[in-house]
Amino acid sequence: MELIVARPEGLYCPPGDFYIDPWRPVDRAVITHAHGDHARRGNRHYLAATPGAGILRARLGEDIDLQPLPYGTPLEHHGVTLSFHPAGHVLGSAQVRLAYRGEVWVASGDYKVGPDGTCEAFEPVRCHTFISESTFGLPIYRWQDQACIFADIDAWWRANAAAGRPSVLFAYAFGKAQRILHGIDASIGPVLVHGAVEPLNQVYRAAGVRLPETLPATATSKGDPLLRQALVLAPPSAGGSTWMRRFGDYSDAFASGWMLLRGARRRRGVDRGFVLSDHADWPGLLWAIEQSGAERVMVTHGQVNVLVRYLTERGLDARAFQTEYGEEDDSLEPTN
Ligand SMILES: [Zn+2]
Ligand SMILES: [Zn+2]
Repeated sequence: MELIVARPEGLYCPPGDFYIDPWRPVDRAVITHAHGDHARRGNRHYLAATPGAGILRARLGEDIDLQPLPYGTPLEHHGVTLSFHPAGHVLGSAQVRLAYRGEVWVASGDYKVGPDGTCEAFEPVRCHTFISESTFGLPIYRWQDQACIFADIDAWWRANAAAGRPSVLFAYAFGKAQRILHGIDASIGPVLVHGAVEPLNQVYRAAGVRLPETLPATATSKGDPLLRQALVLAPPSAGGSTWMRRFGDYSDAFASGWMLLRGARRRRGVDRGFVLSDHADWPGLLWAIEQSGAERVMVTHGQVNVLVRYLTERGLDARAFQTEYGEEDDSLEPTN
């Protein structure tokens, strides 16, 4: 029995008659997390893990018909028992476990196996079939400990502050920006944020995640002495816009898993690249797949073929699964 199949609308559970992260509007949508390529507008009913409800409402509208379900709480629908389990990717991100007539499938959504302090840590879930993302599914992708990366960011910021120039750090507005805020040493100087970042900070704070005080960047203007020591967090789309003019002579950087690739930093045209990802690296993917105990693995997002070949050589039944994920966060290599 296939508990999840690919349909034009998205990943579909035939016995349960619902979709997981559909990319076209459907009646019942189970949402793994609120990144734009997984959570879209227009569905009639939404089901999501409780810690992600605030973000979903902030992004899709307060009026969506959303049923929150706490992690680990089973919900039965047409004989299918569904539960959410932490995916460690962003606040509220969940793996979806489906059990039906003794068969267990898990759809991972996006996941990261290392804990980061801004969301519940990834929890391995045993299953027969595991649908895994594979954004960074190549052996070259190995992340450093996040404490080292934050130390690098702090050192860059400190050096810029000593030289009296603002440090502009580009990062995705939901997830990455809050992780950076949580990890940096806010005693170095004031922290300014773009208008796309602050509403998400507020949802994180309301969920009990400790973030330093942030000021709207628009409260400053060119020549403001505050800017000389400031760290500025902005979404990638702000780069090159008129919004940047107030910073005068600044240093800029980009935080993303793709910064491991020299070419990606050059194409971005930034001074520094910090390799910080909210996705599992190659050892993380292999660890999660092993921990699931699955005999069958379906691979979505990114470097599908390399991971499928690797798992097949190790005796697993592995195959590619066609999806339309990967238009937000680290899922797409930054260009422009
Ligand atoms: Zn994501
Ligand atoms: Zn994704």
